[in-house]
Amino acid sequence: MDQAASLDTQWFDGQSPRARAVTLRLDSGELVMRVDDGERRYPLTQVRWPERRTHGQRQAELPDGGLIQHADGAEWDAWAQASGLHDSTVVGWMQSWRATVIALIGSVLFLSAAWLWGVPWLSQTLAHQVPQSLETRIGQQSLQQLDRLFLQPSGLPQQRQDELRERFASVVDSAYPQGDAPRWQLAFHASPVLGPNAFALPGGYIVMTDELVELLRDQPDAITGVLAHELGHVQHRDGLDLMVRASLVSALVGVVLGDASGFLATVPATLASQAYSRDAERRADAHAARMLHAGGIRPTVMVTFFERMLEESKRDEGPGADDESSVSLPIAIASHPDHGERIRFFREWQPDVPP
Ligand SMILES: [Zn+2]
Repeated sequence: MDQAASLDTQWFDGQSPRARAVTLRLDSGELVMRVDDGERRYPLTQVRWPERRTHGQRQAELPDGGLIQHADGAEWDAWAQASGLHDSTVVGWMQSWRATVIALIGSVLFLSAAWLWGVPWLSQTLAHQVPQSLETRIGQQSLQQLDRLFLQPSGLPQQRQDELRERFASVVDSAYPQGDAPRWQLAFHASPVLGPNAFALPGGYIVMTDELVELLRDQPDAITGVLAHELGHVQHRDGLDLMVRASLVSALVGVVLGDASGFLATVPATLASQAYSRDAERRADAHAARMLHAGGIRPTVMVTFFERMLEESKRDEGPGADDESSVSLPIAIASHPDHGERIRFFREWQPDVPP
């Protein structure tokens, strides 16, 4: 007596329209179909099995053009389960076009997930593993490159520079009473191409242009606010994160295309071509608001800054504007998007009141 689960069902041989009664069972990787005149065997992988989830009748296509039809779906599923058919169908599935499509969709989803979460997560993690000495060197190199491209010696009197630096330093002291502020170093530079701007590089190098100091000449607290925003980027190592991310993407591209040459040379330039994420910007803004508050300055001073930047950008777009003369440096504060949202943020900011 046969111990394997068997199922009495109907079979069409593919030539005659007449259904014939057959009995099915599985035996060592094969579908065994007993017909009145004997037995037929088909490798399980060559049978197109029905979807398990569909309602109604079940239909399996045989490699020789035959068709098995079973009216009672539940009965079929019970037999398939008892026979362990589900496990073997995976093999058959791999060979179907449907599996190819699903595998393709899976790959796209995987790559998207890697892009959306994997790369940012990995770069954040790596950015925090980079030793301080290396970060400082990367920052110095980037600064030299940006210096060659965009920066000129500052025209601000030394006394004015020192004054602004000390003003910021005292807010840093108030915001970090434990003395655990990230290391920072502030340099002023003239930059007709960048215009009113400020940016932070790995290693704590913060650059502010003379043009920005000029734009905010009557608003020293707003200057401090911009520097506090940049220190937020330093604290979260956003610049390094950006470079690591760009390197990861280049490396991924290199792996996919089989050629990674050239990307190493471009890494310092990525700072000039990549933008911080919105999350990084919001975090730096929140950092600035907290620091200003700690230093006894109302965060609304930043509203003036954004309003003037807006006026400035309108002037640039106005008639007679010379496109060649201005360069957008995405990490710089001037090119941050959503001024409206950020003005609202600083206007409505409230310190966390401890319960
Ligand atoms: Zn920023």
